[in-house]
Amino acid sequence: MTQSAIAIEQVEVILLDVPTIRPHKLSMATMYRQTLVLVRITGADGITGLGEATTIGGLAYGEESPESIKVNIDTYITPLLKAQDATQVAARMQLVGRHVQGNRFAKCAIETALYDAQARRLGVPLSTLFGGRVRDALPIAWTLASGDTARDIEEAEKMLAQRRHDIFKLKIGSRTVREDAAHVAAIKRAVGTRASVRVDVNMAWSEADAMLGMRLLEDAGCDLVEQPIAAANIEGMARLRSKNRVALMADEVLHGPGDAFRVAHHAAADVFAVKINQSGGLAGAQAVAAIADAARIDLYGGTMLEGAVGTMASAQLFAGLPNLAWGTELFGPLLLTEEILTEPLRYQDFSLTLPTGPGLGITLDEDRINHLRRDRHR
Ligand SMILES: [Mg+2]
Repeated sequence: MTQSAIAIEQVEVILLDVPTIRPHKLSMATMYRQTLVLVRITGADGITGLGEATTIGGLAYGEESPESIKVNIDTYITPLLKAQDATQVAARMQLVGRHVQGNRFAKCAIETALYDAQARRLGVPLSTLFGGRVRDALPIAWTLASGDTARDIEEAEKMLAQRRHDIFKLKIGSRTVREDAAHVAAIKRAVGTRASVRVDVNMAWSEADAMLGMRLLEDAGCDLVEQPIAAANIEGMARLRSKNRVALMADEVLHGPGDAFRVAHHAAADVFAVKINQSGGLAGAQAVAAIADAARIDLYGGTMLEGAVGTMASAQLFAGLPNLAWGTELFGPLLLTEEILTEPLRYQDFSLTLPTGPGLGITLDEDRINHLRRDRHR
């Protein structure tokens, strides 16, 4: 280690179980709570960095669960990092990558914590380590996913009145295509030109369903259709895109830069949902964004329904992406009943305002963390 090296002394992984404000209904799961996997990495200088991983509906969305993330970090990743230099994040992640296949969400939480600590050490916002910001606030979409049309319209009206969200993403795919299209049309009729209405099918449709669905959704005034068919069917996405006018977004298929390149090569999307967890970390997500830029594909800042830590990590990266034409959906903390920060994130005027402090720019409320941790009764 060089003279300026700082040894990693501790890697702590805790699971927090937090109820959602209402059932969150997706085509593959209905969520009543979210589990936040919090990672804290502390160096010999006493500086601690924070990272977070979340999944959607346990194993319903991807191949990692909160429990697998914790056990894999504790068993395989922490021993690789202990006593190593905390200040060289790329070198640490290269070492992890050599010994650990897959596990993108676990790697994202580790990488975020290392970058947060290093930015705090340097006294700069985390965004500075990724080239700085081109904006200080991010547009924030809200997901209408109660499963009930009238309730969704009521929720949309409330969000518009509070000036919190004017972009609505509807989770569809669990009913018939025509029922879903009618649900979307009713909501679009209610909000009119006051809001953008988009849908996420989470791969629930066959290609034939999607061919019909995209036409009906275009007629309904829907602006964007997210991952209507299976992630593996990239050629199908290309066919849907060439035969429909409503914009098509890739999400589940994007497991980092390699997939981004394949989707771009097949001209299979108009928009990429870039996510730090799905990309294996902040650096991976920045590479996905670079591929999108090179291929003239628009960007949308996606969420894995992270809590405050993962949301702010995403925001610090997205603030520096030059082409974020479709805004973001970094509303995760707003879906949770419990505040885990001493100072809540600032959602106002349809946006999330980024903090200016070092690292992630947030501080955990330790009492709340202790109250919510799964192992508190041990
Ligand atoms: Mg999605």
